[in-house]
Amino acid sequence: VCPVGALSENDHTWKVVEALANPEKTVIVQVAPAVRVALGEEFGHEPGTIITGKMVTALKQIGFDQVFDTDFAADLTIMEEGTELLGRLGRFLAGEKDVPLPILTSCCPAWVNFVESQFPDLIDIPSSAKSPQQMFGAVAKSYYADILKIDRKDLVVVSVMPCLAKKYEADRAEFSVDGNPDVDLVISTRELAHLIEQVNIDIDELEDSEFDKPLGVSTGAGVIFGSTGGVIEAALRTAYEVHVKKPLPKIDFEQLRGFDGVRAAEVDFDGLKLNIGIAHGLGNAKALLTEIRNGNPRNFHAIEVMACPGGCIGGGGQPYHHGDSSIIKKRMDAIYQIDKDMPIRKSHENQAVMELYDKYLGEPMSHKAHDLLHTHYSQKDKA
Ligand code: SF4
Repeated sequence: VCPVGALSENDHTWKVVEALANPEKTVIVQVAPAVRVALGEEFGHEPGTIITGKMVTALKQIGFDQVFDTDFAADLTIMEEGTELLGRLGRFLAGEKDVPLPILTSCCPAWVNFVESQFPDLIDIPSSAKSPQQMFGAVAKSYYADILKIDRKDLVVVSVMPCLAKKYEADRAEFSVDGNPDVDLVISTRELAHLIEQVNIDIDELEDSEFDKPLGVSTGAGVIFGSTGGVIEAALRTAYEVHVKKPLPKIDFEQLRGFDGVRAAEVDFDGLKLNIGIAHGLGNAKALLTEIRNGNPRNFHAIEVMACPGGCIGGGGQPYHHGDSSIIKKRMDAIYQIDKDMPIRKSHENQAVMELYDKYLGEPMSHKAHDLLHTHYSQKDKA
């Protein structure tokens, strides 16, 4: 039982404390993009206050051995998902029949679960790329454990997520090796705030710190995963430059941004017109998927879906917003501000991700990348 009482209702939080107290374990943490623009609300800050540096310092003071960034894994996701998108498109344009299009993003576990249970006939169209949380765990327990020269069982991977579905995702059997999960423990943004309070850290008094290397190196493309439209924008930034072989004329795909529940936009890849769909909220996603089931009349090539309103910034583990969309919009503005301020804003320019490919994975969609970073889906009973 938790000695301070307040943690007794939260198994994962207490298990994190236990892991940190175990001298035989190396305990690392990854933090999702949406957390840094909402955590401050739990300490009285305005929605959208960016407290990344103080959050990293707090996690180091709590005792994590390394503080890493899920944005690194978001960049990695883009390398895999963007390559998969271009691969499917290439086959489609070459006249191949039955190419699974539109490709659907797959980084939201609530959405994946929804497809598996409600639209099993469309189960072959989501990207096979794992979510950033799970890519991080898979890379940490292989590549990073090798760097540390430790067994994966002695490495504890903790996630701080805006999301309750991420706890379920980490428990999926396909995301473990010989019973050892890639991600061991998941706490929410609210639970991290409680932990910071319980260990008597005054977050406002903290200096800023940087994420650790190599799994804390990221780009602006990684951070916009936190907002509706951000995953597909990040993918297109990379897919454009890989396909067209020229720098993007304008890095911001503003036509993909916004708060409407279902959005559609055409993106010009130097003459190749791509039709992009975006939905947030499962009701909106259902409408879009029903359209695809009925023949894809708008000829979408790629669709991003996030289950929560606004995307992960509106996730169920975030500080309560009580349906106030102005709070979510402020978090969204903060996400795009972080992206704008980043020196590197395209996933394929993330040097730590490139080093991971050079030293370990080979290239995107290689055999090893496929083994480590991709998954499969299966039909689930309707709830
Ligand atoms: Fe989790 Fe919501 Fe983000 Fe999906 S959209 S990953 S359910 S926070």
